[in-house]
Amino acid sequence: MDQHIPVTVLDDLSAGHAGSVSGADLVIGDMGDEALLDRLFGQHAFDAVMHFASFIQVGESIGAPAKYFHNNVSKTINLLNSMARHDVKNFIFSSTAAIFGNPQAGHIDEHHVKAPINPYGRSKLIVEQMLPDYEAAYGIRHACLRYFNAAGAHPDGSLGERHDPETHLIPLAISAALGNTGGLKVFGDDYPTHDGTCIRDYVHVCDLASAHLLALQHLRAQGESLKLNLGNGEGYSVKQILDAVAALVGKPVPHTVAGRRAGDPAVLVADSRKARDVLGWQPAYSSLDDIVGHALRFYQATPMASAH
Ligand code: UDP
Repeated sequence: MDQHIPVTVLDDLSAGHAGSVSGADLVIGDMGDEALLDRLFGQHAFDAVMHFASFIQVGESIGAPAKYFHNNVSKTINLLNSMARHDVKNFIFSSTAAIFGNPQAGHIDEHHVKAPINPYGRSKLIVEQMLPDYEAAYGIRHACLRYFNAAGAHPDGSLGERHDPETHLIPLAISAALGNTGGLKVFGDDYPTHDGTCIRDYVHVCDLASAHLLALQHLRAQGESLKLNLGNGEGYSVKQILDAVAALVGKPVPHTVAGRRAGDPAVLVADSRKARDVLGWQPAYSSLDDIVGHALRFYQATPMASAH
């Protein structure tokens, strides 16, 4: 694999941070801006586009579907159309476990029925469903990488998630345990799981990154389009996450039990054998200690994260 791949990052910085970009050119702009995309694709001979620019909050998407379909679907169409006009042939798309809805099986493989239960999941599934048509008509091959629960941070603590507001369980639990925010709300303890709280498959962000590089290598070698589920195949309940955070921080996570969050399936756990078989993907940080430990290291090293 290339040691250095020249990269241009396009980000409107509505959720991203300029300081998180290093070793790449940053263009501040909107993927819905057709003239900007045409200019960028005209200036550079890109051979691939990786699309990470969706809105991602399940709960928010239920109250604001227009926002989600506009950004996640309409603007993605704009991006794909510009790729087609400029003959860019490889597309790697951040998809999600939310396309599956309520699981029909313990571990979700790629054939699992797709029945999203929230607008976020539907917005991603619509894009997935469009891609074979873009391939047939314009020759754009794709890799849809369906993240289960992206978590963790760079192992050296230099890069991690900085959402404002933060909505994700692990950073919220860390900040609550450290006393930087009030108690955490556990969204429901009456699910049909062993302790009543939702079970998710947490996957380290560096392992997701390595899957993207493998997918890029695969598409560049003229491999066929792919749809892959990315997780560790191990489910942890919200309570188990709070226990792991408490053990690593050395303090309990103050919390109360609140009602269920709309749009949350009880259990989402991946069967990622296809990613391992086709791409040779090997998660390097599958233990909860690594995932939570790296998130904690980032949190402690980053005043911005602590402020939120
Ligand atoms: N969750 C929770 N309290 C919070 C945030 C999340 O109980 O303050 C639960 C949420 O209901 C889900 C799990 O933790 O079952 C993971 O949620 P997160 O928002 O981190 O990721 P998502 O599942 O939305 O991708």
